[in-house]
Amino acid sequence: MTASSMKDESTSSKHRKRKRQRNPKPSKEEPIETKLKIQRDTKICKNNQRGGSSSASSKRPKPSNFLDTLRERLSGGQFRMLNEKLYTCSGQEALDYFKEDPEMFDMYHTGYQQQMTNWPELPVNSIIEWLLSRSSSLVVADFGCGDARIAKSVKNKVFSFDLVSKNPSVIACDMSNTSLESSSVDVAVFCLSLMGTNYSSYIKEAHRVLRPSGMLLIAEVKSRFDPNNGGADPKDFVKAVCDLGFTSVLKDFSNKMFILLHFKKKEQLNSNEKKIKWPELKACLYKRR
Ligand code: SAH
Repeated sequence: MTASSMKDESTSSKHRKRKRQRNPKPSKEEPIETKLKIQRDTKICKNNQRGGSSSASSKRPKPSNFLDTLRERLSGGQFRMLNEKLYTCSGQEALDYFKEDPEMFDMYHTGYQQQMTNWPELPVNSIIEWLLSRSSSLVVADFGCGDARIAKSVKNKVFSFDLVSKNPSVIACDMSNTSLESSSVDVAVFCLSLMGTNYSSYIKEAHRVLRPSGMLLIAEVKSRFDPNNGGADPKDFVKAVCDLGFTSVLKDFSNKMFILLHFKKKEQLNSNEKKIKWPELKACLYKRR
């Protein structure tokens, strides 16, 4: 996340229009986000008092810059904390966490969108292109849909799942346990969403809801599959998915940032599910920039 991109977000006109508070005295117990609003408002008052044209002000560090920097650090730090949490807890724990504090989900997604601005190409666009090149009658399940970009971009019927529902088309749940009927969808998508420590249960759920010959599309952060750097061996991962009852049809490692794996659900059920060895997937942690 670049400092400048966070700055753009924090000083957007939307934020500037927020109601001012007259006595900005945050107590120690206040959540960081509340403090941030107060700091923003304090900045507006100070800027107004200065009238924006003092030569003296250029001789000392501008408080607004200092506050912006502080704000960037706090929200960047909070995003990294949430991101790490999602990679190191189960889906159910993540669901409970966001149920208690849905604002944290907004905080996570603001940071996530900032991170994505650093990616030259978004994996979700590859998945959208794939869907657009096929029949729009295919029924799609988007597991960990985020802002539901897939549903917004294709004509297909798309069931979008995430931990929190920010619009009525998104179904809030832990995606290891969706409300879909068995064998009811043609395409299951995981785009950067195999985050929980129990990620295999998400793939098992996708297997349950897919029709025989249905497609499983996975896009994941490349570094999670770099065995030389603590990541999983992609061969082990592909084998585990195949052992569950899929055939591998595409392994694309050509992108610098993400890998694309496509599987087709086998007609026959596999009976050796207990023996599947799912490799641990390395958490994708973002560095402080
Ligand atoms: N697929 C979207 C968003 C990726 S971010 C895109 O490519 O833009 C990963 C998303 O997965 C987050 O929104 C997160 O909340 C969701 N997620 C992670 N674990 C989940 C779970 N157990 N159940 C539902 N959603 C989950």
